[in-house]
Amino acid sequence: MKKVTLLIPVYNEEAMLPTLYQRLTELIRRNAAYEWEILFINDGSTDRTLDSIRQLRQKDPQVNYVNLSRNFGKEIAMLAGFDYTTGDCCVVMDADLQDPPELVDQMLKYWEEGYDDIYARRRTRGEESWLRRKLSLTFYKILQRMSRIDILPNVGDFRLLDRRCVLTLRRLREQERYTKGLFCWIGYHKKGIEFDRGDRMAGHSSWSFFKLLNLAIEGITSSSTAPLRIATVCGILCAISSFIYAIYFLIKTLMYGDEVVGFPTLIVVMLFLGGIQLFSLGVIGEYVGRIFKETKRRPAYIASDYNETKLGYGENEE
Ligand code: UDP
Ligand code: MG
Repeated sequence: MKKVTLLIPVYNEEAMLPTLYQRLTELIRRNAAYEWEILFINDGSTDRTLDSIRQLRQKDPQVNYVNLSRNFGKEIAMLAGFDYTTGDCCVVMDADLQDPPELVDQMLKYWEEGYDDIYARRRTRGEESWLRRKLSLTFYKILQRMSRIDILPNVGDFRLLDRRCVLTLRRLREQERYTKGLFCWIGYHKKGIEFDRGDRMAGHSSWSFFKLLNLAIEGITSSSTAPLRIATVCGILCAISSFIYAIYFLIKTLMYGDEVVGFPTLIVVMLFLGGIQLFSLGVIGEYVGRIFKETKRRPAYIASDYNETKLGYGENEE
């Protein structure tokens, strides 16, 4: 019997768990031909999420959980999930039921047809502010231009991955993760299905504007080095234009003599160059910071429990 793992990162989702579990058991009942695992990754929740998961596990042996030692963020929580899944395929979904479990039936059908990565594309984005929607679409456009791989817009982390995708993703252990980019990077046989993304059923989104901005910067800098090239191109353009300006100025001085004017021009040029330099430094800094983080070779996360087993440092690495 093939085994399907439902991988669900949870962070302060106490209010959501009972409904979620109920919807998942319905899904499982509909697909009794498979063996199922519900794998919760508790991402350092500060409410009673962990207790609720433990209670679920006592009732239902299909429930497994990994407890991370603190909040590592959803991207890292998913990596932890990939490390601990035992299924032949793995469905990544959010705990807030914005990803309808009903879609999994369809995903399983495509999986049986031989697809490796069946992703869900949002037809609508649920209730989101106009600004947030606009920003996220602009972000995807920029990202698409900058990186060579296709990053699909309106596709979230909700997807079914064959075991071989999971095994590949396990090997990609960068700490500044942009998992959406990684899904595209690994390739394999992909299939998209469409759905309407609903609203969060309880609790509230834990993404603030700055967290999203961070994710956007991470997305660009982890899948592309184009920003470094922007700095280079800006530098070259500035150098060329200032050279032309210098020649023009030389000729002008030779022909008409020197006058102490042009103070505003000087200031403008200085400020402009200063701005570009600071920007370029910032861009380079992004990448240097990334190198710094990776050279420390720390594990991406620390798991403190797997089900009833207490884990020590290092035991979670293969
Ligand atoms: N999540 C997590 N760690 C975090 C933040 C969120 O594991 O630091 C989980 C959260 O419990 C949920 C999923 O990631 O299952 C998506 O979170 P959320 O609904 O807040 O994000 P959005 O739907 O707004 O993208
Ligand atoms: Mg959500």
